[in-house]
Amino acid sequence: MKAGDIVQDFITERDVEKIIEQVLSKLEPVIEQVKPKEINMLPNKTNIDFSQNANGIFESIDLAVESALEAHIILTSYKLEDREKMIQSIRKEVLGDIENIARLVYEETKLGKYEDKIAKINLAASKTPGTEDIKTSAISGDYGLTIEEMAPFGVIGAVTPVTNPVETLINNAISMISGGNSVVFNVHPSSKKSSAYTVELINKAVLKAGGPQNLVTMVKEPTIETVNQLSSHPRISMMVGTGGPGLVKSLLKSGKKTIGAGAGNPPVVVDETADMNLAAKGIIEGASFDNNILCIAEKEVFVVNEVADDLIYNMLSSGAYMLNQEELEKVMKLTLVEDEDLGAKSCTLSPKKKYHVHKNWVGKDASKILSEIGITKQDVKLLICEVDSDHPYVTLEQMMPILPLVRCSDVDEAIKLAVKAEGTNKHTASIFSRNVDNMTKFARAINTTIFVKNAPTLAGVGYKGEGNATFTIAGPTGEGITSAKTFTRVRRCVLAEGGFRIV
Ligand code: NAD
Repeated sequence: MKAGDIVQDFITERDVEKIIEQVLSKLEPVIEQVKPKEINMLPNKTNIDFSQNANGIFESIDLAVESALEAHIILTSYKLEDREKMIQSIRKEVLGDIENIARLVYEETKLGKYEDKIAKINLAASKTPGTEDIKTSAISGDYGLTIEEMAPFGVIGAVTPVTNPVETLINNAISMISGGNSVVFNVHPSSKKSSAYTVELINKAVLKAGGPQNLVTMVKEPTIETVNQLSSHPRISMMVGTGGPGLVKSLLKSGKKTIGAGAGNPPVVVDETADMNLAAKGIIEGASFDNNILCIAEKEVFVVNEVADDLIYNMLSSGAYMLNQEELEKVMKLTLVEDEDLGAKSCTLSPKKKYHVHKNWVGKDASKILSEIGITKQDVKLLICEVDSDHPYVTLEQMMPILPLVRCSDVDEAIKLAVKAEGTNKHTASIFSRNVDNMTKFARAINTTIFVKNAPTLAGVGYKGEGNATFTIAGPTGEGITSAKTFTRVRRCVLAEGGFRIV
């Protein structure tokens, strides 16, 4: 009898299979338990569970946050160059589908112009900085080496506006992922479909580049209540709000690090030295772009009286239409809503009327506004009107292709009125001038985050201008033109061997 025969007599092949099954059945629960931890530390980027919901759209804030947190933890095991691959993939996928995204957002929000959506999406996908924005600094000397690196915050909660919904989403996602974060979006409800499409596209792009699923998530049915749930969620490390003053105020109460990008009402000063043809063309390009729904768009003009007629003449020959008094009254009736006077009428001798903008007319074409008051003109880019400095079209952030012009006695009066119209936004302003002293005087007086000379204000976010693009201009909290580094924490690592060496 050979040794092998004895084994065959006592342990059959089936016995061996049974033993293996028993050992495995005991091991399985252990494997299940360690799985999440293993995933957290996974350097192997191919080990993704595609059976899970990976498109980033969730029914609740809790699910959106938990999934984004898992994605963030996985992201921490990736190298910076891996992150850059994800960013490149996002740019490629967005640019490859740009017409579709633009159409979706245009059809859903019914604001602005389709071709300008394409320009904005292109700007966000192409000129938002990636990981090159993340730079480590080093200090070395007798006492050793200290480095300061930019570390992620974790999971960021981001709220987006209806005026640039997918552009802000693309811009924020590129910046935040470059900074090593994941992000949960609460988008404006009127843009939830095009935003969901874009979130899904970004997640697909990240997966294609070998990244984790659900790096970008959003709640399917966004409301103000879900904004509050997001900003009070214990797993959210930072809130970023791009929108009007109500949003920024509410996020600042969250007790979390908050970046607030609020409203603007950008004035333009035109002095007597300006090139009037350049000024007219520049103002019209900026103020009519996407029907003036951008926060940086020129909203009112203060022109020195001696050149006002020249400016108007040039504007009329570049696509503007001047409303006469009767037409202006009709357009006001159409686009503005008179606020109810809540004060005691007897307290004031001549109560001034207060207005807010009629939502239905925000971002609509100039020719559509004209046609509503009985004027048929197809090729009008912008409506202009002559008004006083306290006219509602000057004081309100109206976001329509209607640009009020105020005549001023000199540049000093123009600057004073422009500063008043800009209010406390500290957002954007511009000047057309050849006089450097006037430019400096205005820049100092208005102290805005973006100040543009002799060009449309769009140049301030890198559109036909130098510098990177952003769709989150954080004036109220001071970060200004946001980019990847804005969404990082500075972490100092010290190697103090020089000073502490025992001799
Ligand atoms: P909005 O303030 O109405 O809405 C912005 C977002 O905030 C939406 O998602 C909305 O659901 C949410 N929201 C609104 N009020 C809120 C509140 N009280 N609490 C919690 N969430 C709230 O603004 P909008 O109409 O979508 O966008 C236009 C405004 O955004 C303009 O004022 C424009 O100047 C500003 N904006 C600023 C920037 C910037 O970078 N500074 C960029 C784009 C737009």
